[in-house]
Amino acid sequence: MLDKLSSSLKGTLQKIANAVFVNDKLINELIKDIQRALLQSDVNVKLVFSLTKDIKDRALKEDPPKGLTKKEHIINIVYEELVKFLGGEKFDISLKGKPSKIMLIGLFGSGKTTSSGKLAKYYSKRGFKVALVGLDVHRPAAMDQIKQIAESIKVPVYINKELKDPVVIWKKIESELAKYDLVIIDTAGRDALSDDLIAEIKELNELINPNERLLVISADIGQAAQKQAETFHEALAITGVITTKMDGTAKAGGALTACAVTKAPIKFIGIGESSDDLEPFNPKGFVGRLLGMGDLEALLDKAKAAIDEDSAKDLSKKFLKGEFNLIDLYEQMKAVRKMGPLTKIMSMIPGMGNLNIPKDMLEQQQEKMDSWRFILDSCTKKELENPELINAQRMERIAKGSGRPLQDVRDLMKQYKQGKKVLKMFKGKDPEKMMKRFNLNPGQLKF
Ligand code: GDP
Ligand code: MG
Repeated sequence: MLDKLSSSLKGTLQKIANAVFVNDKLINELIKDIQRALLQSDVNVKLVFSLTKDIKDRALKEDPPKGLTKKEHIINIVYEELVKFLGGEKFDISLKGKPSKIMLIGLFGSGKTTSSGKLAKYYSKRGFKVALVGLDVHRPAAMDQIKQIAESIKVPVYINKELKDPVVIWKKIESELAKYDLVIIDTAGRDALSDDLIAEIKELNELINPNERLLVISADIGQAAQKQAETFHEALAITGVITTKMDGTAKAGGALTACAVTKAPIKFIGIGESSDDLEPFNPKGFVGRLLGMGDLEALLDKAKAAIDEDSAKDLSKKFLKGEFNLIDLYEQMKAVRKMGPLTKIMSMIPGMGNLNIPKDMLEQQQEKMDSWRFILDSCTKKELENPELINAQRMERIAKGSGRPLQDVRDLMKQYKQGKKVLKMFKGKDPEKMMKRFNLNPGQLKF
């Protein structure tokens, strides 16, 4: 079901998950990819643009909430907006009274009879005492079809091949139906929503007074489903939609989104020809599956180790202004530490993984960094802000306080001073130009 849409959306989100940094260019690409995928699935152009505008606005403006990386946040935005797009919440079927009644309406061949069988099976499996009622008096074979379906799912069925008026048939059987929990009523269709169809359904509606009037729409009509759902809703105040044949068409996305924007919520989807191929429609679960959220979570876990763009950007700006003190060093080391061992981090930075840095060298560096963390913890805030304050006397105090050898403290200060010297070269230069000169974008600058 929706395989093509699903795989293109998954591919799009994987691009995000795999990217080292998220920037505007990547977001624009994401938006284009989503638009392409949805348009190919026959989603209405206006709807596509309004959806992707919402995604883009949020992706560019919102800061990720605590605990989420920028990438996770963007993927989450796509998920949330698609869920909203498909109606947001799951709508339940109202089953009150005994019997409760669901009446199916719709055009010829939309899947009414098949869906009434599927619904009957769905509810009898859940312990309801269900009966089917066939009121399609117009098609000669209709009564036989529903009878056959009912037999195959072992549900009692009420049909009448002699009487040609559904009102008369209903009146005749109504008293027998009191013993059921749920009665599912299949009605006749037409080629189009004609006056006589409206008149027939209205009359049946007043007589039967069903809990639910579900419009059955075939997904293969794509975005044309919107007009159909709206017209039926205006004429007959439907309570929901069953979108069928979701399995058999590349236009299913169009049909689904078209139904979702009408006032009548999608309550079930038909996903195949067999009697089990019916699902209650739940936008969250549906979009989760469409995007392969399970796979994505695994991907994101991996991606978590990549460097967060924002902090890299901030830091590179500071670098370029020559404003770099021990607090920045400390913050950066903390961030790096969170990502895992250096060996792993190196392997995730494009190009670095191929460099043949000896493993024990990285491990030594790692130990040094761990030691520096203790040292920085023992510095006062003033010292961190103004590392020039740290004289020999202070170094001794810091070594004692951190439990690290004095030599480690000296090494750290040496490293800091060296870094600062390099940064002086950048001072006062236009960051943009410097970046261009070194062929970097801000996200790529790291140390
Ligand atoms: P009705 O005229 O509205 O009663 O439509 P039917 O129930 O007779 O269905 C018309 C055709 O659509 C039949 O061949 C069904 O097997 C087929 N059909 C109905 N629902 C689905 C579905 O969800 N998936 C697929 N692939 N076919 C379906
Ligand atoms: Mg039928």
